[in-house]
Amino acid sequence: MLIFRKPLEGIERPQMPADVVIVGGGPAGMACALRLSQLIDAHNAAHPDSQLSRENIYVLEKAREIGQHCLSGALLDPRSMRELLPGFEKEAPLDAEVTKEAVYFLTRNSQLKLPVTPPPLRDHGNYVISLNRFVKWLGSKVEQAGITIFTGFAGSELIFSDDTKDARVTGVRTDDKGVDKEGYQKSNFEPGYDLQAKVVILAEGPRGSLTKQLIQKFDLARNANPQTYGVGVKELWEVPAGRIAAGEVVYTLGWPLTTKEYGGAWIYGSPGNGPKDNIVSLGFVTGLHYPDPRLDPQRVLQEFKRHPFVAKLLAGGKMIRYGAKSLPYGGWWAIPPVSGNGWMILGDSAGFLNSARLKGIHLAIKSGMLAAEAAFDALTKDDSSAASLSAYQKKVESSWIKDELWKVRNMHQGFERGFYAGMFHTALQFVTGGRGLRNRYPAHAGHEHMRKLAELPADGGAEAHLLGPARGDGKLTFDKLTDLYHSGTKHEEDQPAHLVIDDTNICNTRCVKEFGSPCQNFCPANVYEMVEDASQPNGKRISLNPSNCVHCKTCDIADPYQIITWVPPEGGGGPNYDGM
Ligand SMILES: Cc1cc2nc3c(=O)[nH]c(=O)nc-3n(C[C@H](O)[C@H](O)[C@H](O)COP(=O)(O)OP(=O)(O)OC[C@H]3O[C@@H](n4cnc5c(N)ncnc54)[C@H](O)[C@@H]3O)c2cc1C
Ligand code: SF4
Repeated sequence: MLIFRKPLEGIERPQMPADVVIVGGGPAGMACALRLSQLIDAHNAAHPDSQLSRENIYVLEKAREIGQHCLSGALLDPRSMRELLPGFEKEAPLDAEVTKEAVYFLTRNSQLKLPVTPPPLRDHGNYVISLNRFVKWLGSKVEQAGITIFTGFAGSELIFSDDTKDARVTGVRTDDKGVDKEGYQKSNFEPGYDLQAKVVILAEGPRGSLTKQLIQKFDLARNANPQTYGVGVKELWEVPAGRIAAGEVVYTLGWPLTTKEYGGAWIYGSPGNGPKDNIVSLGFVTGLHYPDPRLDPQRVLQEFKRHPFVAKLLAGGKMIRYGAKSLPYGGWWAIPPVSGNGWMILGDSAGFLNSARLKGIHLAIKSGMLAAEAAFDALTKDDSSAASLSAYQKKVESSWIKDELWKVRNMHQGFERGFYAGMFHTALQFVTGGRGLRNRYPAHAGHEHMRKLAELPADGGAEAHLLGPARGDGKLTFDKLTDLYHSGTKHEEDQPAHLVIDDTNICNTRCVKEFGSPCQNFCPANVYEMVEDASQPNGKRISLNPSNCVHCKTCDIADPYQIITWVPPEGGGGPNYDGM
């Protein structure tokens, strides 16, 4: 029987007072911590008689080391970093400045270069970075500023003042360590801490687990469009020098996707550690609202690499890293309220991502800075009520975050009815400042687009090449386990499963028949398996390999019955996205 992870009940937990707890040490959380320390410095310099301390400001990061769970393309739009740390270019780990971009439309065997690069994809002046290295560097700045980052600690629950709709968020409970597979304490058991905080800031990235608790508890999304997501599957390659210049950027549309799916690929050139331009970051983002439950996003990337245009670039090269992560696509109308009684939400957790540009790092950083200003005011006034923290909401709405997202507010919804309708709406929105046919296009949650097997061609029809597991040739293409090996993923094996399935009977009786168990396909890490079991009505039973999980959150998002909840495993476990 599967035992699922949950905080142990009836145990005494260490209590720790805090001024501010930031959950998540990605770009948003780190920028927030750094800006807060800058504001405290300025205050202390101006007010020698009323010094503020930063001792009680904490960042919780579930990865063993800073940046280990950070995966992105990545191109950095430097706008917010120039505001946070003017002159940051001199010391930040930037791989190359973008000097050349191109967009291609791919058919099965050929490619057509668009004569003009669409404005959202013009990247001159942006930088190719590894988000992992960039966040490590930002984290070192935060630590130098005297703020404590607890690595290997996940926020596992929010603490509320009471059960009412007006409750205040009063803190964060961290993960229990040393719990065995059956849910019992091991000899190394350590209960999670209760961090009692004046302000709790959620910067957990896409589909944050505490953010999800908060949104559900207060029904925060009731006036927003449902958030929609894509999953990006990425590989890092070493290729023979001269194939692609450092700072060269290629985007592709079309193949291997058909007109029924949404997504595209990126290829970025980096210098690598040596003198040669020989590192290629490439990946494919597949919108998680595809109709066929047999589609496998990891296979989509493998099919993409088989295209002659890509295969030629990679020929003779070597895949060195792999990873996957979801990203919020829904845009401005899908953003819930971002502040309330004792809490604020930042970055991807809020949905601050410009999907037309495939960029969210600069928005995450900016949101962190604005939240820091609101938190600072709350600390100095000793008031972190909803009214006080609403300053953050107002700052976002009058900042360039809104300007940027407003122009593409309807972009992703336009693609809900396929590629051609999407291109039509995108063109119309472009000439009407983002409006298109109406000010707010509606959206549907991605999983609602998934069709039952009975409604689809048994042989997969035009999508056949995207369905089922990739076999891989071991050189250019890889099966999932080979790819997974290159993600450096490790967890404590003896712990309860952190993929919490509300009712496994649904998996064994309904999903296997109706949808063919799509968890086996959409999970990019082979966590879900349907194993033979003669005692089950369909002869199969769900089984989990939680240790494989790369924390992409796709299962929490894409499961058609919405019965899977991703909760953080024991802190320290997960992928190691070194250089990603
Ligand atoms: C495939 C892909 C390609 C992309 N390409 C680009 C690009 O080229 N340019 C660009 O600007 N943007 C790009 N983005 C988007 C960009 O990466 C995100 O917008 C950005 O990383 C968001 O930052 P964040 O701090 O909000 O979240 P994240 O970067 O996701 O960081 C969240 C952090 O919180 C930690 N965490 C989560 N939950 C908990 C918890 N409960 N307790 C403790 N720690 C927790 C995580 O381990 C992680 O370190 C891309 C995204 C993807 C997936
Ligand atoms: S189990 Fe879920 S979160 Fe983990 S890798 Fe698979 S799809 Fe991603």
